[in-house]
Amino acid sequence: MLKHRRLPFSLLFAAALLILTMAAGSYVDLRYEEMHSRQLAISTGLEKIDRFNQQLSAMLLVSVLEQNILKSSSYQNVHAKLELDVGMVESLTQGLSLADDVTALSQERRNLRQVELNAYKLMEQEHWQAARTLLFGDEYVLARKIYEINSETAIGALNGELTTNAARFNQIRNISLGLRFAALGLLFWAGMMFSQRLRHELKEQERLREEITSVNIQLEEKVQERTAELEEANRKLADLSITDGLTGLANRRHFDEVFKNEWHRAKRQHLPVSIAMIDVDQFKLYNDHFGHQEGDACLRRIAAVLSESVQRSGDLMARYGGEEFVAILPGMKGSDAVKMAEIIRQRVQAEKIAHSDTSLSGIVTVSIGVGSRIPQSSDAAVLLLNEADTALYTAKNSGRNTVVLLDGQAAVPADKPE
Ligand code: GH3
Ligand code: MG
Ligand code: MG
Repeated sequence: MLKHRRLPFSLLFAAALLILTMAAGSYVDLRYEEMHSRQLAISTGLEKIDRFNQQLSAMLLVSVLEQNILKSSSYQNVHAKLELDVGMVESLTQGLSLADDVTALSQERRNLRQVELNAYKLMEQEHWQAARTLLFGDEYVLARKIYEINSETAIGALNGELTTNAARFNQIRNISLGLRFAALGLLFWAGMMFSQRLRHELKEQERLREEITSVNIQLEEKVQERTAELEEANRKLADLSITDGLTGLANRRHFDEVFKNEWHRAKRQHLPVSIAMIDVDQFKLYNDHFGHQEGDACLRRIAAVLSESVQRSGDLMARYGGEEFVAILPGMKGSDAVKMAEIIRQRVQAEKIAHSDTSLSGIVTVSIGVGSRIPQSSDAAVLLLNEADTALYTAKNSGRNTVVLLDGQAAVPADKPE
């Protein structure tokens, strides 16, 4: 899984720059609007003051010329409006470079006003000539002219300042716009780099995942292989632990275990179970004559014959010890067990393994003692073994190469075929 990644510095920087330039741009726009409307208000105010002044002068001049005080009746009214605008312009220009000019203009205007008021009073008293002299006097006319010029200059200066400010603000706006574009570009670039890196990391992780998966599969195959080998080895070991090394038949340990189980089963199911003890006749002499190695080979040949002769599932042929073998024949009654033992005896004889002892017609033979029982609940397994052993003993005493049955009664030698 892709672990949580921190955003790269370039991306954060570009985003911060963008936010900063946007904020600065908005602030500049706001300030520009504010300054623009303020300067427009001053400009309009100044023009209005100029117009009111002309109106006032014209009013007085017409009144004095026509000697009609009524013509200047709205003088006080217009004057009040003029005062209002003057106040507004004065407060707006505070802190501006124009402030001093506006103060000077106000002073000039107050002087004019003083003369005009004097003339107005004279007109009210019907001293038309004196009023006329005042209004047409060089001093007043000159003062008015200067006032008009100064007022036009102030408006011009103000408009100049307005234009300069606009240009400066435009410059700042352009710079901020440029910065915004740069930040956007940087943001885009950083985003691209970041996504490229993420893609690369994802690909790398995918590759690693595939590598791990393939290693895991290989590992699993190895484990399965090893498990199979181990199972095989265990099976072999288990086989070895129950097999006799010389003959390949079941060993004594396995016989004991199987016999115990079959004995109990026969008890439970009230079925017969037979045992055939098979002992090689005069084998000591065989060994003495042919040597131990040949003796081993002989035992292997006999074991092969025995193994072939016991084919029913559930039957077991084992090496009981030395040159003695034993067959467990579950569910088989004594008469059938004797028949089978007889077949075994004949087959060993038919092998015609040469023996040194001429008393046994010169070939290797076996004596077989058969025991058979339907075990009762109180019977011990050793009972049957003892019976087979006794039967074998009887067989040996009866001249060997013979089968004897002991099924809880007297030992009965089986009929030997002619
Ligand atoms: P009997 O007919 O009464 O059974 O006579 P026997 O000679 O077969 O019996 P005895 O018990 O006197 O001798 C058994 C011999 O079997 C003794 C031993 O040398 C031989 N023998 C036992 N186990 C082995 C073996 O694993 N290999 C070989 N070569 N000989 C064995
Ligand atoms: Mg023997
Ligand atoms: Mg023996």
